[in-house]
Amino acid sequence: MLLDNKTLLFSLMLISGMMALSLTIVTRKNESDGIRRWAGALALESLVWLLVASRGTIPDFYSIVVANVLMVTAQAMKLAAIHAYRKLDFPRLQCFVPVVAAIALFMLLPYDDARYRLGLGSLLFTAQFVMILRALWGDTESRAGNAWWLLFGASLLMLPLLALRSIVSLSGAMEFVTTPQSAIAPNPVQLGVFVGLTALNLLGAMGFILMVKERGDREIRALAMTDPLTRILNRRAFMSQAEKQTAVALRHHLPLALLMIDIDHFKRINDAHGHPAGDKVLVRVTELLTSHLRTEDILARYGGEEFCVLLPSTNEAGALALADKLRLAIEKTPIPLGDKFISITISVGVTACDFNSSKLHPDFTSMLQDADRALYLAKKKGRNRTVQLALSYAIPESAA
Ligand code: GH3
Ligand code: MG
Ligand code: MG
Repeated sequence: MLLDNKTLLFSLMLISGMMALSLTIVTRKNESDGIRRWAGALALESLVWLLVASRGTIPDFYSIVVANVLMVTAQAMKLAAIHAYRKLDFPRLQCFVPVVAAIALFMLLPYDDARYRLGLGSLLFTAQFVMILRALWGDTESRAGNAWWLLFGASLLMLPLLALRSIVSLSGAMEFVTTPQSAIAPNPVQLGVFVGLTALNLLGAMGFILMVKERGDREIRALAMTDPLTRILNRRAFMSQAEKQTAVALRHHLPLALLMIDIDHFKRINDAHGHPAGDKVLVRVTELLTSHLRTEDILARYGGEEFCVLLPSTNEAGALALADKLRLAIEKTPIPLGDKFISITISVGVTACDFNSSKLHPDFTSMLQDADRALYLAKKKGRNRTVQLALSYAIPESAA
């Protein structure tokens, strides 16, 4: 025989146990991402392998009934872990019904009836993996990551293996020898299926752990790009988006426009109504600006009370029209502060890079400088206005 059963089972017990231990150590108690439940499932599986390996030396009740019921419980815990990861309610029915079914099935079947135990047991596990696959499929956000595919793929591949084991067992095509020495894998098909299921099980565990990690990374990246008050892009994220959009505009000879917006006399709002009121105004202004932009327009909080809007595929005339629309919308919408309403205004600096009219900026930094200078002029001319700066760059020969 290629593999020695007892050594195989002992190794599995060790691997599952060590994985469970390491997961328990690295996760925090109050974390509700499902890792602890998965660790619990692995710990149960470790115990199952110990019980199965002890077949012959312990009563059959433990190595058969208890071991199988624990194995079903472990799969139920994985389903519960996925629900915890997805922040869904504990799937009571989907977890308890298979466990109760397992107790009934393995208690009722005679211990020497390996044919029905393996056959019907495999069907039960199949049903559990279908539930796991369903729970995973619903998570459209995680589906974008690679780890999701690892877990989904591993769980999906379990199905044909379990079906094969079930069919082969129930048909009685294979002869089962149930002496203690050959408690599992009494023939090559059984052994192959068993090793395959075990490999997929470990792959699935890795998939789940990495899926949790991927989501953590996604959340951290999003936090690093977002302004915590207004929940729009911060300056750093805006600059990186702007570099990309500039490259696209240059490559495809598309116009690109930039608005720099600054709230007029914002300091006075803070002074008169307090800093929290100032914060509220910033949030409301963000909402108003967002409601007037297209989805492809990129709005960011550039500084304290300063916003930038990058407008892809927009020429100078379009940018000026939008800037004035935004300015008027802000001017005409009083902002509620407690039981009062206050009116505010904004000044907007506009600059555009338009291939059709041969107006070009050599790079995005120069666009920013122009928009900033335009904004400065708007302030100087009395605020609550839109100013567009005359182009300060010569047209490069090569691009003209
Ligand atoms: P101007 O019309 O020339 O733009 O005048 P201003 O008062 O708007 O400009 P100034 O630069 O003098 O003041 C900006 C103020 O914005 C000062 C700062 O305390 C306030 N500010 C910056 N960030 C925040 C913030 O996150 N929340 C609040 N409430 N205030 C902020
Ligand atoms: Mg200001
Ligand atoms: Mg300012």
